[in-house]
Amino acid sequence: MIKRSFFGFAKPCLKYESIAETLPELEKISTPRKVTLLLTTSLGEKAEALPIKEGDKVKTGQKLTSDDDDGTYVISSVTGTVSSVSSYLGDFGTSYAAISIDVAQNEEIDEEFEKCSKKPTLDILKDYMVCAPGSPPVELFYNLEKPIKTIIICGYDNDLLVTTNQYIIKSYIDLLKAGIVILKETTGVDDIVVVTPHSLKQDYGQIEAEVKTIDTTYPSASPHMIMQKVTGRALPAGNSFEDLGICFMTAEAVASIGRAFGNGQIPVRKTLTVIDKDEGIKLVSARIGTSLKHILYELGITLNEKDRIILGGPITGSSLYSDDHPIMPDTCAIMIQDSGKIPPISDYPCINCGECIRICPARIPINMLVRFLEAGQYEEAADNYDLYSCIECGLCSLVCVSKIPIFQYIKLAKYELGRMSVAEEVDE
Ligand code: SF4
Ligand code: SF4
Repeated sequence: MIKRSFFGFAKPCLKYESIAETLPELEKISTPRKVTLLLTTSLGEKAEALPIKEGDKVKTGQKLTSDDDDGTYVISSVTGTVSSVSSYLGDFGTSYAAISIDVAQNEEIDEEFEKCSKKPTLDILKDYMVCAPGSPPVELFYNLEKPIKTIIICGYDNDLLVTTNQYIIKSYIDLLKAGIVILKETTGVDDIVVVTPHSLKQDYGQIEAEVKTIDTTYPSASPHMIMQKVTGRALPAGNSFEDLGICFMTAEAVASIGRAFGNGQIPVRKTLTVIDKDEGIKLVSARIGTSLKHILYELGITLNEKDRIILGGPITGSSLYSDDHPIMPDTCAIMIQDSGKIPPISDYPCINCGECIRICPARIPINMLVRFLEAGQYEEAADNYDLYSCIECGLCSLVCVSKIPIFQYIKLAKYELGRMSVAEEVDE
């Protein structure tokens, strides 16, 4: 997958989309004949070695494990028969097992979660909710060296045109409130802040969290900017939010927790924003594991040769090579770009125009940084040109007159440096 900004030649209007006062109807995508679930596996582990095999029968809500020491799993979003288990390499070398399931006509719900859902605990969240819609990051609460002191719930999506989490707040505020109560009880964290657009503040009423509003200018909904707004502190370069005791969750993740413990079933339908070729927005609900092809077909969106499919929003999304790709628990948006609107790729060098520096919220000397990134000199880029101060907003790529994929280079550099640091730790 290639990460880059997907707007064309002109500078876009950099305002987040606000969900309409009259809620758009949620289009319910039918259950497809086959779903594919992506299970994270450790590097080198063969899909054939997994306990789940072709021919196995599975129920909706059933946990399918990798048998790894780290206990990774996926939750089956359908009832049916496993038709294949194969290795799948994702973005930046992430290794998955792709588990395809032929869907049965009659749905059966797995009862394991219901038996333990009456009294929520952190262990139950860890054992069942990690793959729920919104992907609650429960594992962060198990790191004793970096205890979480503040949970920030994002009711705003961090990309233009995407309104998934605003929709969740408008439609499922009671589930969000129930999720917050469970989070407080199970994690012991009392400091919970919900971040929301001004237009939705009146929807909250009585809630066991502080509600803070942010403005509609991109990238004010990025985690770095939100942290600054909520805590008054900037994240020091090279630190993670967990280093400072902060955990981010989407509103959908928290509502999933509220829903699961409310009815004893792990939710398996994901809400997402679909952005069509004219930048029209639809909100849909689809089973996790549904292919993009099935969703586009049901929405009547035709994919022509050379049109581009983007997983995520227009600035920070990733382009995909195939519409067979499935919806995952953290997929908030998909976007289809007409081939005629795809900006041409250029191999022009940096002309030192300074547009990127003027727009960068982190004030990074990008014109210098990009030279080191293009040369693969990542350590120099980090040591001398503030690579780790980048908040990954993608604005530099958007305005670059030479159309240099700066954002893509930055992501690659951080990934490579992360890999090198892990390799060094293993060698020690
Ligand atoms: S370097 Fe680019 S992606 Fe990073 S913060 Fe600056 S403008 Fe955003
Ligand atoms: S916008 Fe592009 S061309 Fe202009 S200084 Fe930045 S990297 Fe160079």
